[in-house]
Amino acid sequence: MYERQHFINGKVTDGTSGRFGPIFNPSTGKQQGRVALATKGEVETAIAAAADAFPAWSATSVVKRARIVQNLVHVLYARKDELAEALAREHGKVFSDAQGDVQRGLEVAEFAQGIPHLIKGEFSDNVSTGIDMYSMRKPLGVVAGITPFNFPAMIPLWMSCMAIACGNSYVLKPSEKDPSVPMLIADCWREAGLPDGVFNVVNGDKEAVDTVCTDPRVKAVSFVGSTPIAQYVYATATANGKRCQAMGGAKNHMVIMPDADLDQVADALIGAAYGSAGERCMAISVAVCVGDDVADRLVAMLKPRVEGLKIGHCMDPEAELGPLVTADHMAKVSGYLDLAEQEGATIVVDGRGFKNTQEGFEDGYYLGGSLYDNVTADMRSYREEIFGPTLQVMRVKNFDEAVELPSIHEFGNGTSIYTRDGDAARAYVNRVEVGMVGVNVPIPVPLAFHTFGGWKSSAFGDINQHGMEGVRFYTKTKTVTSRWPTGIRAGAEFVIPTLNS
Ligand code: NAD
Repeated sequence: MYERQHFINGKVTDGTSGRFGPIFNPSTGKQQGRVALATKGEVETAIAAAADAFPAWSATSVVKRARIVQNLVHVLYARKDELAEALAREHGKVFSDAQGDVQRGLEVAEFAQGIPHLIKGEFSDNVSTGIDMYSMRKPLGVVAGITPFNFPAMIPLWMSCMAIACGNSYVLKPSEKDPSVPMLIADCWREAGLPDGVFNVVNGDKEAVDTVCTDPRVKAVSFVGSTPIAQYVYATATANGKRCQAMGGAKNHMVIMPDADLDQVADALIGAAYGSAGERCMAISVAVCVGDDVADRLVAMLKPRVEGLKIGHCMDPEAELGPLVTADHMAKVSGYLDLAEQEGATIVVDGRGFKNTQEGFEDGYYLGGSLYDNVTADMRSYREEIFGPTLQVMRVKNFDEAVELPSIHEFGNGTSIYTRDGDAARAYVNRVEVGMVGVNVPIPVPLAFHTFGGWKSSAFGDINQHGMEGVRFYTKTKTVTSRWPTGIRAGAEFVIPTLNS
């Protein structure tokens, strides 16, 4: 049994609340540690450390800030497997997938190394006689991140690399389910040479979240998690005068046109629906087949592959997916599978009875892959996010019906279309009411130099994660109008200046 505490002002700091949350190993089903849950006062201490560190860090030259982020890139590459193993043992995803989790965060660090170029302002020479005008991007101050369990490396790195490169100081409140990797990230920042107080971690629950969202010293809050909490964080943070971006849940549809290469589709769906046990906000959870013929053929191709999924503990090199994150989450996913059955969906493969027979892992939180056919838009099991290793097949008559399903769904995170028809693909890209779209690509997660964000109930706030949107989120512009030389006399002007001179 180990303990995870907080990381404040460059040091691991023991919690004083006396409150702890359990840390489970999802592969074994056993508790392996506990995490301190911060009091309001402890969060305030972390915010104070960040506020104290801000003046010096924001005044550090942009090239030096870039070099520290560059150091972080090297440290993360050197410690990638250490982070991935800690991640797999608390999250349950298999080691190779955990390496990908670290890698996707690391790629944002690689992008943030370019901050001297990214943060450049604008300059207009001689906008009026002797007058120049320029805009600068200034850091906000103390900014905070609140992150979910499912990407404990990638999402804290998405947020903190952009924020810190832009000159802000940072307080991270990670998921209490897998707190070890965020603490390791803190250690990586320290090893990279980041000054004390610039990156802080407070572990905790609602009390910590509420403190971050209401403390006046915190200027911006970035949240990723489920939709109800995203709405709550967005409402609370903005009511308290903060800039906020809050990413929520998802239900991602893949449209399969009659001309699609079904072998390619089946490969794509097996990875995108069942990888990471479906605990990805960009997992494909719905396959929308255009025409019964496509659906019949696809279901027949998928059935043996879903039945044959290799499920095992997180460090099993043969396993394609591991357990779910907690017993509670496994029960929730099972409940949705029960509901889908009651609602009349056709069970093609039922993962509910799966038992892992690997010695020492019999009590882990495993579910087999499930495949449901004849799912309809009125079913609650379709309307809500399941977040487990299951795929729902829907049948529509034509392209228009296929575009409509994801477009009117409450969530709008990701979607994809499989087709050989460029017209259909182009029309889908333009018409579908979803933020991230793949064409013959199953999980269209944008790379670090583009921007990540869904639409509708999948994201609240106007500015997305990373890419240039990340620079915009973590900076505010200051625009200067400057007259040189001072010797020019314009006389007193009583009307608003316009472009006449
Ligand atoms: P969650 O909403 O339960 O938790 C997210 C964060 O909110 C955690 O830090 C948690 O401690 C905190 N939190 C939980 N309950 C709270 C409460 N009542 N008050 C205040 N704070 C609270 O989400 P999760 O289960 O950790 O993550 C899975 C969810 O995240 C899924 O819905 C998934 O779709 C979503 N997600 C979305 C994206 C995206 O970019 N849209 C990315 C990853 C995950």
